[in-house]
Amino acid sequence: MSLIVQKYGGTSVGSPDRILSVARRILETQRAGNQVVAVVSAMSGVTDSLIKLARQVASHPTEREMDVLLSTGEQTTIALTAMAINSLGGHAVSLSGAQAGIVTDGFHTKAKIANITPKRIHSLLDSGIIVIVAGFQGESLEGQITTFGRGGSDLTAIGVAAAIKADLCQIYTDVDGVYTCDPRIVKSARKISEISYDEMLEMASLGSKVMQSRSVEFAKKFGVIFEVRSSFNNQPGTVVKHETAGMEKVVIRGVSVDRKQAKVTVSQVLDKPGIASRIFNEIAAINVNVDMIVQNVSAAGTTDISFTIPADELPKIEKHLDPIVAEIGAQGFKAQAGIAKLSVVGIGMRSHSGVAARMFELLGKAEINIQMITTSEIKISVIVDEDRVDDGARIVHAGFGLDKVGDSESENTFLEPAVS
Ligand code: ADP
Ligand code: ASP
Ligand code: MG
Repeated sequence: MSLIVQKYGGTSVGSPDRILSVARRILETQRAGNQVVAVVSAMSGVTDSLIKLARQVASHPTEREMDVLLSTGEQTTIALTAMAINSLGGHAVSLSGAQAGIVTDGFHTKAKIANITPKRIHSLLDSGIIVIVAGFQGESLEGQITTFGRGGSDLTAIGVAAAIKADLCQIYTDVDGVYTCDPRIVKSARKISEISYDEMLEMASLGSKVMQSRSVEFAKKFGVIFEVRSSFNNQPGTVVKHETAGMEKVVIRGVSVDRKQAKVTVSQVLDKPGIASRIFNEIAAINVNVDMIVQNVSAAGTTDISFTIPADELPKIEKHLDPIVAEIGAQGFKAQAGIAKLSVVGIGMRSHSGVAARMFELLGKAEINIQMITTSEIKISVIVDEDRVDDGARIVHAGFGLDKVGDSESENTFLEPAVS
């Protein structure tokens, strides 16, 4: 007998029929001789509708109440899923995040899991009952409802799998697994059979929203091996796990696109110590995450500093940057949406050179202008105009041979190993 955690995302539970088919899959898993905990998301579109609703009554809804509101999406699905299982002759009980013993910090709308006490889950499982847990939510030490940020049901699933030491953690979604690029952007993208935590983490944080990035971080920390697979068929999916010896053979595992970026340029900033720290301390103080930063060569004692931020933080930045710009004597600043980040990710980059050059060459030939660049050991990211980013993804995907040998069992050896 195995202990299995299954997570079903919004599309998988998006209608009564789909909830019934999820219920059947859960029951089949139990009837095959396993104990099952299923984590479910809100039905697709529900969280978005709740956010819209909140904005109709308040331009800046209080975050505590946002959590009370958003948690109702998952609360609806747990009840419906448990009812469906019971109507099919099974025995299921639904638990809210708090009832499942998920304790978090107090950061409303982006809470982190502090600990999970799965006593109730275990005692239900021991009585032969299927446990349906609400994704995306927990309870703070102060007894407040909290939520984990968009896509946060993935975190619930990984967290519960770690806490109950599950033998298997399956993330059921609307694609067959993790692909070499979002298949909605690149039609020829291929399913990856195995991917390392680090690669999955980079892809998720660089815009491949198939997994919430914080959930991957959590899985890496606690060594939870999980499989991303489709709730619409029985195909094997993608296994996410610690790096294995063969994984480095693949230079580029995948391509990610993140549209929700904005660029801010502060112009004619005095080129002297302390100025950059003044600007970025101010931005940190208002909790805006800065991603890429570029400072131009100094001319006549001044320089331009550009940086990128999440697009939805633009209004906040515009409000706070004005007084700083005046105080440091810069000429002004320009905030610009309509840009996007295109990245290639792969642990094989550590032992192969020439990846950046090849990526720039591919984009250059396609006349796609690169506005900013950042690199790490296992990724290269560039900022381009948003209206060219999909083209860029397709060109880079093809240029690195991912539509031919996207699977980790094959090697994409377009480059020679770096001479060390
Ligand atoms: P769920 O509601 O099941 O959590 P999500 O919508 O959060 O599902 O994630 C699944 C979606 O992620 C897919 O429909 C796909 O468009 C998108 N996606 C983005 N990048 C990738 C990728 N590299 N591989 C697979 N899917 C991806
Ligand atoms: N319902 C939440 C969202 O839409 C959490 C999730 O689906 O994972 O972001
Ligand atoms: Mg998701």
